[in-house]
Amino acid sequence: MSLKIFALNLGVYSVGKDQDFKPLGPGDKPLKGEVKLALNPFLIEQNNRLIVIDTGLGSFYRDDMTPDLLAKIAAHGYSERDITDVVCSHLHLDHAGALAHQENDYWELTFPDAVIHMSGRELAKVKKAQHDHQIEDYLSFLDARGTLHFIEDNPEPFEGLRFEIIGGHTEFSLAIFGRSGGAGYLMAGDVLGVRAHVNRKFAAKYDFDPGKSQEMREHLLKQAYRNDVYILSYHDDGSPVYRLTGWDEKKGYTIETAEHDVAI
Ligand SMILES: [Zn+2]
Repeated sequence: MSLKIFALNLGVYSVGKDQDFKPLGPGDKPLKGEVKLALNPFLIEQNNRLIVIDTGLGSFYRDDMTPDLLAKIAAHGYSERDITDVVCSHLHLDHAGALAHQENDYWELTFPDAVIHMSGRELAKVKKAQHDHQIEDYLSFLDARGTLHFIEDNPEPFEGLRFEIIGGHTEFSLAIFGRSGGAGYLMAGDVLGVRAHVNRKFAAKYDFDPGKSQEMREHLLKQAYRNDVYILSYHDDGSPVYRLTGWDEKKGYTIETAEHDVAI
């Protein structure tokens, strides 16, 4: 039994309503009216599996983020062919944009041997609502060439990995629960996108259903505290992996930062 979690930092960005990701340097503030978001795909060694959770913008970023993602994976000693599973917490492009990437104007699967886990209902919804030609192409390519596993068909594809549709951020956003031996993790996409969300009650304009997001946040945090699992926050700039080690009615949860790379 083994579990190792690596946060692959693909940079920090200023992001506004236009959804354009503008790179920020260390210590830079976001532009006026925008928020600062990091992108941290997670690489997880779990028993005999090698799992990537969320992928960054890939070819939907100015210079293509895919080479950087692959370099970060290579730094841990793995190639794209070693990845057995890719999970999409939801299908916004900053999370699911590098399942395939463009090479000489053709789409190629980024992780050719991986099963891609996502919500089938979310994919159907995104395809139906799509008017952008490049995104349409991308989704059709994935449908035709990717090994897609829709979590609605089987929410527990193998022992130690389980999905739940929690909604909130998007209608069919997922919570991802991993476990190996006595250790575990929770990744809930943008419902728990940054660590500062833990002790705040709020309704976010960027959510599909802000009330549901808050309800799920509270529920998942209670569960994570009770089960003592690591929480993975994709957009956190600084400490994307942490645990809840205490609770106080007034102060809320005590948060303990884990090293970026956690071996359990
Ligand atoms: Zn996001």
